[in-house]
Amino acid sequence: MESEALFAEEAEPPGSRTGNGLQHYNNEHVGVPLDTFFTLVEVPVIPAPKLSAFSDSRARTFRKRFFPDTTLKEWNDWHWQLRNRIRDAETLGRMIHLSEDEHHAMIGAAGAIPLAITPYYMSLIDPWNPRQALRRTVVPTVHEHFRSNGEADDPLHEDEDSPVPGIVHRYPDRVLFLVTGTCSTYCRYCTRSRMVGHQANHCRNTEQWEKGIAYIAAHPEIRDVLLSGGDPLTLADEQLDWLLANLRRIPHVELIRIGTKAPVVLPQRITPALVKMLKQYHPLWISIHTAHPDELTPEAAQACARLADAGIPLGSQTVLLSGINDDVETMTRLVHGLLKIRVKPYYLYQCDPIPGSSHFRTPVSKGLEVIRGLRGFTTGYAVPTYVIDAPGGGGKIPLLPEYVEGREEGDLLLRNYEGKVFRYPDCPAAESVIH
Ligand code: SF4
Repeated sequence: MESEALFAEEAEPPGSRTGNGLQHYNNEHVGVPLDTFFTLVEVPVIPAPKLSAFSDSRARTFRKRFFPDTTLKEWNDWHWQLRNRIRDAETLGRMIHLSEDEHHAMIGAAGAIPLAITPYYMSLIDPWNPRQALRRTVVPTVHEHFRSNGEADDPLHEDEDSPVPGIVHRYPDRVLFLVTGTCSTYCRYCTRSRMVGHQANHCRNTEQWEKGIAYIAAHPEIRDVLLSGGDPLTLADEQLDWLLANLRRIPHVELIRIGTKAPVVLPQRITPALVKMLKQYHPLWISIHTAHPDELTPEAAQACARLADAGIPLGSQTVLLSGINDDVETMTRLVHGLLKIRVKPYYLYQCDPIPGSSHFRTPVSKGLEVIRGLRGFTTGYAVPTYVIDAPGGGGKIPLLPEYVEGREEGDLLLRNYEGKVFRYPDCPAAESVIH
């Protein structure tokens, strides 16, 4: 039977390491016999599930139902996925039962963010439940049409910090390089709703890229370039190669980063050819935009494994979204799932006040509650930095729950993750030390 797995490579066959399904811990590789100290135990090894077990049934059922003439090879081709994105209400309505709210959102005036969902991501959407987390991130609702207080087209004032089209130079030593306005799947809460999907306004072409590269080359203080958009991984390999090669030629560019959502919305994009090309440009880091643990499918895991195996450090960026991931249980599942696929949870963003985003935004107290529920309760690597990207162009400002209770007799009073208070004998400031 054909498998829906992304790649032809087979997972290591269960039991291949030991032959009999039992892992023997013995002393053959160490100098001191372990059984001097411990009683040897035999630990049964649970056979690894086939990576494609879940995706096989889910993706195959979806493909057979809505794309019956499509072969598995076509389904696993990222170009096919892009060509066959769900882009209109009629097609969407054939695949899911649109709620009245969703239906009205799409027959009324078009919102700022276009509709586009890859067939792969569509296969993860619950056709019956409009409250499903993944569905809410990509299917429009009427809330998008209402502008609330404080919302703005460009809340982060990126356009004001743009010396040449496509470059945002806000921090002293690094720039954001917006290389495309296209994404494979559009998030309804996108900070760049003013530009994504509107190529006429923000067409990224070689001429603009050359200007951006010339700007970076002329500014020796820039040591870090973040390629973003839109999603840079919607560009062809040759285009990315051209961009990366030209950036790597600039001696003062130490670090190149790519921001993308492809591994979770279009994992087919992470091809061997792409990875082979990317690994020529180390140090190269990738930040993956994730929203919910349900995005961490076997396909996404395989895509991340490919990138990680190529030596590319992976971090995640997540926007805190009301009713989607703004609770400790969901966020814990997300960050644990990310670590398991070798992605370090990097940033948790307070949702930016773009027009029509009030239904996604949470009070800051929610974000602090989520961080408080992670810190100490799980691995430090699993805890992202919670930030507000300050409206008006102030940059990222980190937010932490308050752990300092005050001072008493020179001691610092600190509250730990369990709520218990501890004293730390803080050093006096240098000038008050009596010699
Ligand atoms: S992938 Fe990123 S750039 Fe594209 S719509 Fe989502 S948030 Fe915006």
